[in-house]
Amino acid sequence: MIHEILPVGMLACNCSIFGDEQSREALVVDPGDDIAGILEVLARHALTVKAIVITHAHIDHIGGAQELKRATGAPVYMNGNDAELQKMLDVQAEWLGMEPVKKVEIDAEAKDGDRLVVGSTDFHVLYTPGHTQGSISLWIPAEGKLVAGDTLFRDSIGRTDLPGGDGRQILRSIHDKLLPLADETVVIPGHGQTTTIGREKRFNYFLQGM
Ligand SMILES: [Zn+2]
Repeated sequence: MIHEILPVGMLACNCSIFGDEQSREALVVDPGDDIAGILEVLARHALTVKAIVITHAHIDHIGGAQELKRATGAPVYMNGNDAELQKMLDVQAEWLGMEPVKKVEIDAEAKDGDRLVVGSTDFHVLYTPGHTQGSISLWIPAEGKLVAGDTLFRDSIGRTDLPGGDGRQILRSIHDKLLPLADETVVIPGHGQTTTIGREKRFNYFLQGM
């Protein structure tokens, strides 16, 4: 499967573009910004976007979703527990000193246990609240990959001091939903370098004693 990771926007949110070589269908995760760059990658691989998935409603992850939706006609999936945050995009822009972004219309809910299919590849929705109440991760078993949003980072975990954050809940999510995955699973965090589940089990300070 084609997979490109594009750091977008001033906070360098990792936008993932997955594409099926046969059907030329694509799934885009967290188009926070730089929609022109994302469209360029899609065009280069002759891909048609089937779904846009938002790991959580922070502006750096969701900011460009409406523009990508308009350009591609693809539906936007998000967990409903982030609906409040999603309505506060103007406030979030103010916090960060950013230009306001377009309101994002959500087309479908991404709930725990849901599966999105791209070509012949399954993307499993894991509900992993804690960074926000509607945070999700995407597990792609056939690829041995996990798109973790801002739940798990290389050597760190997502911050929980913003509205909707919960420090105990994020640790429970990581323990219950992410650590059971195979050690070789490649983790694509919402920001920064990729890692693996096994590496984080061993070296991530926040996960010691789990
Ligand atoms: Zn975030």
